[in-house]
Amino acid sequence: MKSKVSISPQNINIEKLVREAMAMTDKMWWHHNNPGNKPENGKMNLTELRKKQSEEVPEEMQEIISKAIKDGVQAMILRTEKNRKCVKMNGINLFVNESEFGYEMTDNAYCEYMPTNHIACHSMAATTVMEAEAEEDLFCHCKDGKCTASCKCRVIEEMFKNQRAYRKADRRYHSCSFECDCKGQCRSSVKDAPEEGTEVMLHHITEKGFAVRAKQYFAPGETVAEMTGELVPTNTLARDDPYAIDIFNAEYDGKELLDFLDGKFIGAHKTVKKYSKSYIRNLENLYENDFSINPTDFSTAGRFMSSSCFPNVKTTIVYSGGANPLRARAIFTAVMPIFPNMEISFNYGIDYIFQQLKDVCKCGMLCCVTNSHLYEYLRDEHWKRFFKELYQAVYPEFKENVINEIKGKLPQPLFDSKKKKKNSASRRKINILSRARKATLRSNRATL
Ligand SMILES: [Zn+2]
Ligand SMILES: [Zn+2]
Ligand SMILES: [Zn+2]
Ligand SMILES: [Zn+2]
Repeated sequence: MKSKVSISPQNINIEKLVREAMAMTDKMWWHHNNPGNKPENGKMNLTELRKKQSEEVPEEMQEIISKAIKDGVQAMILRTEKNRKCVKMNGINLFVNESEFGYEMTDNAYCEYMPTNHIACHSMAATTVMEAEAEEDLFCHCKDGKCTASCKCRVIEEMFKNQRAYRKADRRYHSCSFECDCKGQCRSSVKDAPEEGTEVMLHHITEKGFAVRAKQYFAPGETVAEMTGELVPTNTLARDDPYAIDIFNAEYDGKELLDFLDGKFIGAHKTVKKYSKSYIRNLENLYENDFSINPTDFSTAGRFMSSSCFPNVKTTIVYSGGANPLRARAIFTAVMPIFPNMEISFNYGIDYIFQQLKDVCKCGMLCCVTNSHLYEYLRDEHWKRFFKELYQAVYPEFKENVINEIKGKLPQPLFDSKKKKKNSASRRKINILSRARKATLRSNRATL
């Protein structure tokens, strides 16, 4: 709790954000100039091009960028007006500010609330795996609900952590769930999204329709939202489906999980031994297909998240309950500090962005696909200004509503918790040391 209170724009690692945003700008520049081609080693990238050019950015470009920063910051903030209406739609609340009354809802806003995924595919393999699971024990029963390194849930998580097929950023996770003895509360569990952490509202600055707004602060790494939906074989979806998330890829995930079933990972044989032969066979059949989550008709508020060319959350695919991809979930975790009133957005995929959102993306980011004319002129200093302005815009309200309210109740001064933490950690260390020394003394005495 204390660490959550010590949030201020000064504590945000702007340099890290700038580095990542510049890397994304380079990636976007590459796609803009080499459509459809992946960057290859040895070919000139934007960083090198910048070095070759003079460092000076022309005056008129500076002005255009300044305007892009101002508009972009505005686009990322979703303020709520006192008089607003809630459209209750099949279990999902959609808020509309008074200044936007009269907005006509389009067909694609209709969706029914569904808190967990529903398996909608009826392939033989899928059905038999689900049936077999009734007899298999997929969840861990660690002593006192304390999961250790040998916990079978942790073994699969280790496998994903060390897997070779995925880039680090795209790796899969395995988490304990409510059905494990730890109730999904152990240290290696991925936490559920807070129920009241986000809401859906009509974006009042840009005409992008409904968007997801943060109602609380999220630190990087925290679970922000989940996108539930119908689990379907990917080949039953339209190729450019704007909503579906690919959750299992036979080529990459399949190979990895087959190796797991073969016991090729540390500890795997112990976990796999508990599965029956027929269950393993059915899983192997399942691994031949690609699967996606389709949130179009049934989902949660997460379905209303817009795409961003530099997003603040990323999709994390989390398995819970063994090696069955049909038990995987699409969870969104923060990749930068998110304050209340900020719009939550994820990246729909660079190919999708360049094909479908080329002229219409309203994410407001400097590296937005619609800002391709700026790519060559974007420098670290511009991104720095962007993030500073963004956090300065959202911080005062947060301070007013959250920090000031709890300030009086806290015994310690705010904003220097880092120092405090260090002190208490070293004090703890000393305590442990002295306790250990006492124990040794005691045992020494016992042997004397
Ligand atoms: Zn366990
Ligand atoms: Zn578990
Ligand atoms: Zn656990
Ligand atoms: Zn964009």
